[in-house]
Amino acid sequence: MSVSPFQLTFHRTTVFGTLYIIASPIGNLEDITLRAVRLLRDSTLIACEDTRHTRKLLDHLGISTPMVSYHEYNEAARASELVAKLEHGDNIALVSDAGTPLISDPGFRLVTAAIAAGIRVVPVPGPSAALAALAGSGLATDSFRFCGFLPPKSTQRRKTLEQLRRETCTLIFYEAPHRVLDALEDVEAVLGSRPVVVARELTKVHEEFLRGTAATVRAELVARPSIRGEFTVLIGKADGAEPDDTPIDAAVRALEGQGVTRMDAIKQVARTRGMSKREVYDFMTRLASEPGSRGS
Ligand code: SAM
Repeated sequence: MSVSPFQLTFHRTTVFGTLYIIASPIGNLEDITLRAVRLLRDSTLIACEDTRHTRKLLDHLGISTPMVSYHEYNEAARASELVAKLEHGDNIALVSDAGTPLISDPGFRLVTAAIAAGIRVVPVPGPSAALAALAGSGLATDSFRFCGFLPPKSTQRRKTLEQLRRETCTLIFYEAPHRVLDALEDVEAVLGSRPVVVARELTKVHEEFLRGTAATVRAELVARPSIRGEFTVLIGKADGAEPDDTPIDAAVRALEGQGVTRMDAIKQVARTRGMSKREVYDFMTRLASEPGSRGS
């Protein structure tokens, strides 16, 4: 295929733009870096979750760069539009409503699409509630696991926590104010009395850290007239106690061996494992019906 001189010139002069992933404040508007301010001002376009929300930050900083919405409901379509602009040479700044984009926030599709198109992706670090909460928590920081939001329904939430029982590092979760009490109840049921820290309203006027176990922190919150604000929940490793990794059927049989009735044994195992009686019962029934099982 022949290439016209015009096409050759066009290819040589077209330089892709850069995608900047810019962290923004999680409460205190002073928590923005000089580099972030410069790049927000100098970018061609700012892609943000909610233009009204980001407008407040931009007004505070005296920045008038045009904005375009980029949120979980238009991510797929918007990502390809933005990649086309980057290919055209535009520099685009991606911000979320608060903290670091992509961390429980939109941006993943755009970043992967940009990388696939050969566009330079530059992170501009700054606030993130998870790290701010960890730094102030007093829990171990040498090793931690960020788990995003726990599932909203208790059964699923307990299953997720059950899968994390063997983790020995600090666990970090985001949680909504209307679910924090239920979540702490499930943490207590599944993980027992581990150290728990609830970081509320970080970097804001009413910033606080509640420290104790899931039960004591929960009791402190229950005693309040209302539960408001933004919450990050951290769970430390169990103090010395090794998680019980006895298989469920062996745990039920061990209790039966001590004279406990089958139903009471199932109840007890369900409670200590954070499972429902039905789940343990179904598990035992399934096991008994498997070929080669010892029956029950
Ligand atoms: N991308 C953000 C980041 O890097 O922190 C997180 C976005 S996520 C949608 C929002 C959740 O982060 C909130 O529901 C809350 O759990 C946590 N969070 C955000 N700001 C917080 C704050 N100031 N104090 C405590 N937790 C906060």
